[in-house]
Amino acid sequence: MKAHKYSPESLMMSLGYKPEWSEGAIKTPIFQTSTFVFKTAEEGKALFEAAYGLKTAKKDQEPGLIYSRINNPNLEILENRLCVWDDAEDCAVFESGMSAISTVFLECLKPGDLLLYSSPVYGGTDHFIHHFLPKIGVEVISFGPDHNLRDLIDLVNKTGKAERLAMIYAETPANPTNAIIDIEICREAADFFGTEEKKVAVAVDNTYMGPLWSQPLQLGADLVIYSATKYIGGHSDLIAGAVLGNNEIMKRVKILRTFLGNMASPNTCWLMLRSLETLKIRMEQQMKNARKVAKHLNKHPKVEKVYYLGLLDPKHKMYKLYKKQYSAPGAMISFDIKGGEKEAFQFLNNLKLFKLAVSLGSTEGLAQHPATMTHAGVDPLSKHEMGITDKLVRLSIGIENVKDILWDIDQALEKVGQDIQPRQFNQLLEV
Ligand SMILES: *Cc1c(COP(=O)(O)O)cnc(C)c1O
Repeated sequence: MKAHKYSPESLMMSLGYKPEWSEGAIKTPIFQTSTFVFKTAEEGKALFEAAYGLKTAKKDQEPGLIYSRINNPNLEILENRLCVWDDAEDCAVFESGMSAISTVFLECLKPGDLLLYSSPVYGGTDHFIHHFLPKIGVEVISFGPDHNLRDLIDLVNKTGKAERLAMIYAETPANPTNAIIDIEICREAADFFGTEEKKVAVAVDNTYMGPLWSQPLQLGADLVIYSATKYIGGHSDLIAGAVLGNNEIMKRVKILRTFLGNMASPNTCWLMLRSLETLKIRMEQQMKNARKVAKHLNKHPKVEKVYYLGLLDPKHKMYKLYKKQYSAPGAMISFDIKGGEKEAFQFLNNLKLFKLAVSLGSTEGLAQHPATMTHAGVDPLSKHEMGITDKLVRLSIGIENVKDILWDIDQALEKVGQDIQPRQFNQLLEV
């Protein structure tokens, strides 16, 4: 027989765990323990030497178990499995997506450095960039989907601090507009300003498309970041984050995590291990449903414009980039309803199957109003520039039967423009 390489989805049930470690239990138990017993004092010494890099550990030597802030079987098995999807050398799982993002910023940036980031970014990321990084003396500048390599170079040069550029951060597709950023251009700009001694790191928030439909590490990113709260967790029942990259950079990220103490708990890791088993079928079903929903909305008389990558015309200037970077259009849809906040709210208040909630990527459909909810904190001028207007509604498509999803959207749109008082908080009973 020829050597066979399993697909990622086939490895999610077993990779990194042996039943004989746990009385034959087929599934990884929750290792609800803070510390691990050493066989001998000598072993304890050797493990600490490896963990703190005091002695160069032998090649391929897995760091042993010491203390659950440093490592834990649930954390390690989960990290091994996440590496498979992005074909990454190493992974670090965090207690939230924001925790993953802020740790990467803190590791890659120091006072006096310059950060170039894509706009718009997730609200929490935006807050950290504008309200925390300047406090530690980091200068920040942004770029958008319309900027090419020359523009990025000019933007950086104009600051007069080109030699202090330390990091390029991109979120693509952007939340909530689905605007896309070219990761290869970010890599080229980073290499243009980087030197052998001082490399410029490229980090990509891949929450919207990963890990199934886009692999930023293969396109030149040094780090890929997730809010694992979204598709990876996928059931609206946990908060977590993940960072992946090569061994060298991940070693730095993991050491900072050890000292910030912001790793995910064994229980959260265990839930994610369960989630990973169905990651592919969940995401594929969500995407198939989303394609149908986007097409349907696109024809609806009460809808002005739909923002969904699957609807991009092959002649659109972003189409080539979309095809290069993504293998599918994802399951996030935004649309402008005809009217403004009043009409958007009427639609949201009348949904029955969709839940009116922020977050995304879950098994159930979620709907929200970016201008007054997830992006309420973004300043009005930039909001306008990004297209986050009063009439914009964001949908995260779930795995429900698409007939039910379309029915729900239609009945809620039907009520838009009619002055019916919605009955709130008893959506469950109405379904
Ligand atoms: C939700 C989200 C985050 C933040 O993740 P948390 O798990 O909520 O901390 C970051 N980036 C994107 C794109 C997100 O959607």
